[in-house]
Amino acid sequence: MPTALVTGGSAGIGLAFARRLAADGHDLVLVARDAARLESVAAELHARHGVGCEVLPADLADRAALQRVADRVAETARPVDVLVNNAGFALHAGFLRTDVADQERLLDVHCRATLVLTHAAGRAMAERGAGAVVNVSSVAGLMATGTYSAAKAWTTAFSEAMSVELGRRGVTVTALCPGYVRTELTSGLHGRLPELAWVDADRLVARCLDDVRRGRVISTPTLRYAAATALLRLAPRRAVRLASGGFRRRTAR
Ligand code: NAP
Repeated sequence: MPTALVTGGSAGIGLAFARRLAADGHDLVLVARDAARLESVAAELHARHGVGCEVLPADLADRAALQRVADRVAETARPVDVLVNNAGFALHAGFLRTDVADQERLLDVHCRATLVLTHAAGRAMAERGAGAVVNVSSVAGLMATGTYSAAKAWTTAFSEAMSVELGRRGVTVTALCPGYVRTELTSGLHGRLPELAWVDADRLVARCLDDVRRGRVISTPTLRYAAATALLRLAPRRAVRLASGGFRRRTAR
């Protein structure tokens, strides 16, 4: 059975990945901080699909904990065939109203953890000549909404760069750019955005895994978000900055 490691596999988009991958017959390694929640997801998926479910509690902002996860990814005796770098969070207040330590933690979880785990997976997968890495990025990477946007712009650029480098070694790298998905991360926006803005997590993940099988480098879930992405790429950056500022003021907590 192939094995998939999903960071942030205990909630939201990561949980949807874990459920889909288990239903498709993958054994799982689930990573997040809350061990009890991981255990409960692992028990549910093992009972429903009969797959192996290992839990690896780790705070990905912590270098030693991240290294433990990287070591698991690199294990040759128990290979990881699919790596989903999904764990993340958002800071809902403005840059100067948050502690710089929280800003650094955001970069650590979204960027450093993605880089370190992709490196570990990339080496092991390239050695075997096969594997897939999915990095959960965001349409926000094309906007100008704080460090979150900057981290997601990095995630998409990094994924594209890695798809070029690792693609030659049989490893696909895909950046998933979801629109808004109802999760704990967006709980403050539920009811504040039009219904059209929301994407169903299960459909998002099914679409993304189809894109991975087709070797697509950027996965955008719906036609609506494909159009929004095209618009953001073509619009003058000044207009994008103005729109981002307005959006940030309306949605800040
Ligand atoms: P969520 O429901 O809040 O789930 C976040 C997951 O990440 C949880 O399993 C959480 O578990 C884990 N996590 C958070 N911080 C962690 C840390 N320091 N170390 C290890 N695990 C950590 O969030 P989500 O909305 O599904 O977001 C998942 C990804 O999608 C993120 O990268 C986010 O930026 C991206 N995204 C989301 C949306 C959206 O609309 N929801 C849109 C675009 C992109 P613990 O708390 O137990 O650690």
